[in-house]
Amino acid sequence: MKSLTKLFRYGPGPSSSHTIAPALAARHFCRLLKNRPIERVEVTLYDALAMTGKGHHTDDILRSTLAPYPSTIIFHPEIKTDHPLTMRFEAYQGNTVLEEKTYASLGGGEIYSNDDPEVNETDIYPFRSLNDIKAKMQEKGWTSLKDVALAYENETVEEELDTILKHMFDCVERGLMANGIIPANHNPALRWNRVAGQIEKSAENISDDDASREMRLTAYAYAVGESNASGEMIVTAPTCGSSGVLPAVLYESYHHDHMDWNTLRDSLYIAGIFGNLVKQNASIAGAIGGCQAEIGTASSMAAAALCYVHGLSLFQQEYAAECAMEHFLGLSCDPVDGYVMIPCIERNGMGALRAYDAYLYARYIAPIRKNQVSFDNVVSAMKLTGDSLASAYKETAEGGLAAILKKYENDSR
Ligand code: SF4
Repeated sequence: MKSLTKLFRYGPGPSSSHTIAPALAARHFCRLLKNRPIERVEVTLYDALAMTGKGHHTDDILRSTLAPYPSTIIFHPEIKTDHPLTMRFEAYQGNTVLEEKTYASLGGGEIYSNDDPEVNETDIYPFRSLNDIKAKMQEKGWTSLKDVALAYENETVEEELDTILKHMFDCVERGLMANGIIPANHNPALRWNRVAGQIEKSAENISDDDASREMRLTAYAYAVGESNASGEMIVTAPTCGSSGVLPAVLYESYHHDHMDWNTLRDSLYIAGIFGNLVKQNASIAGAIGGCQAEIGTASSMAAAALCYVHGLSLFQQEYAAECAMEHFLGLSCDPVDGYVMIPCIERNGMGALRAYDAYLYARYIAPIRKNQVSFDNVVSAMKLTGDSLASAYKETAEGGLAAILKKYENDSR
């Protein structure tokens, strides 16, 4: 498993696979071009990256990152690659290629390359599963997943997580204050007003405390989801598309349950380890595992974090993380027009609500009956399910809601 600081990245939306990762690849490629007579760069996007790359402004982010080199971005959705989010960079002088590299976007902004191995992030945790981690905890007498993280992360991790939490809360607040239209893409049917602030206001007028909490959680998740869809800076948790779930539950805990800052910051160790286990053993990318990999993982991380914040045991944190993921198994990734608005923004709201429900189950049901499904089990089930999902349901905008709404739009013309 890699550092938690590689899971929580601060970068531009709307999609970690389509914006943060390509920008990172472009920056790495540019370092190879220094002091060489490069006249232009060509980037070819393949497979799922090409299918939804235009919608997610991958071409814009590549052009701006590669500047001042002039660049051309080519889309080849019909060419299938081993990894569905593959991009090839070629740097030219005249018609001669002076440098070429291929990168894959792994989800959450991480990249991998066989021919530029310097970009590959290294594992710092020696564990394959939560069971491995629990065995180590027993051996060392550690009582919390935070102890595990502190043993393997470097000494700046606490400071970095502090900054991450600040970014998350800033993003919620910016999103609640923002008005106007989400500048999504070329499709006029997808030009929507931002509504997070209005949802928060309506929550204030709801007399039922539970309903009011649910609407606040929804408002906070929408605030981040709408910022992400507007291409603003967000924290991947674990991805851009699912970036609203974890901040929503932590923001609610801070402002309404009056949990202290350090406990909330420390809950990122817990959320991060659960997220990292999914990333290592299945996937956190919608293009690889469907939306169960994004919103399912985000909800699982948020549920475990909430348990930690409320002082529940590791056993209950695992219960909540497993429960949240279990009920998202099979969820497809079907963004309409290839853009992170429908169903993504609303799905962040539902992810936050399910995280809260999973925390309640862990709190009140876990002491009554032992969970029969472990977190490691549900991650394996998620991988199996993701591998069996047809590509139409993995961020290609060819299945589910994306296909139905496209058909509806075409029929009504
Ligand atoms: S449907 Fe889910 S996985 Fe797909 S882009 Fe939206 S949030 Fe991400």
